Amino acid sequence: MKIGIPQALLYYYYLPFWERLFTELGFEVYESGLTTKDILDNGSKAAVADICAPIKIYTGHVIDCLNNSDFVFIPRFSSIQKNEYFCPKFMGLPDIIVGTVENSEKKIISPIINDISEDICDPRSYDILIDKFGFSYRELNNALKKANKVFTRFKKLLHNGLSLDKALFSYKQNFWEEYLYSIKKNGEINIAVLGYVYNLYDPFISLDVVKKLEELNVNIFTFEMVNHDDAYKQLSKYRKKLFWTFSNRVLGAGLYYLNNNIIDGMIHVTAFGCGPDAIVGKFLQYECDERSIPFTTLRIDEHTGEGHLVTRIEAFTDMIKRKKAQTLEVKL
Ligand code: SF4
Repeated sequence: MKIGIPQALLYYYYLPFWERLFTELGFEVYESGLTTKDILDNGSKAAVADICAPIKIYTGHVIDCLNNSDFVFIPRFSSIQKNEYFCPKFMGLPDIIVGTVENSEKKIISPIINDISEDICDPRSYDILIDKFGFSYRELNNALKKANKVFTRFKKLLHNGLSLDKALFSYKQNFWEEYLYSIKKNGEINIAVLGYVYNLYDPFISLDVVKKLEELNVNIFTFEMVNHDDAYKQLSKYRKKLFWTFSNRVLGAGLYYLNNNIIDGMIHVTAFGCGPDAIVGKFLQYECDERSIPFTTLRIDEHTGEGHLVTRIEAFTDMIKRKKAQTLEVKL
């Protein structure tokens, strides 16, 4: 049996976990591949017009998976942290797909992820696999334990400073920790590039902004490089946390980099039509302004032009490089 995993949204965080889970259970895993113009067009045609770009793209990947596999894995992410939730689009994802993509309902496998940590391996969340495919509880539990081991190893790469695209590559090539020795942060300036993984690492939607910055001799610091506890500690200065877990992680990581004087500038990468980011972006900007750290927002959607983006990031990095050089001169 072939199960399709759409290469969008939380694919960019949980792929190692999901792939191991399904292969342990005897499935053949199909991935829809990198976003292409066709995938984007199919998703945009099916999705409602004013929904955010990542959901349109996800819809296109689901259509591809439906055409190439027996089932499509569309988890309903509700919570992975006490008293916090996912953006409503994640909570309603299977319903959004059933409502917009014809003949999808019978092929969708949707466990409900309602956990207390990002290690989403509580067997009760995956009852649907027992009900639908007849696995025993023991088989499911064993597969989840193995999947969790892979996920822990994968996160270790991220927390050691590997960007998520490189960590995924390392996982796929089975390089694992060996890849860590290749991390060199010897660029001219340090920039935090903060945004949800599915925006940053989908090269079609973000126009490969991470890679472009690296080509400009910039060391990149992203939210998934900061572990959960370090990110959350930073949020204690606020009276209340945000409702959305990944928004808190992005904000916490931004504060972590600022409070530890790691970065010379910050770029917030956000998708057009994203509600939670309207708040996260303002907080990040305020915190940068307080410390005179240059800040900019890259708002991307399915129509963002490459030329425009390159000009923006070149101007931003030039300005930071000049500022850093002047500061060094004054010190000398
Ligand atoms: S967090 Fe923003 S970009 Fe992500 S699914 Fe929700 S609205 Fe869309």
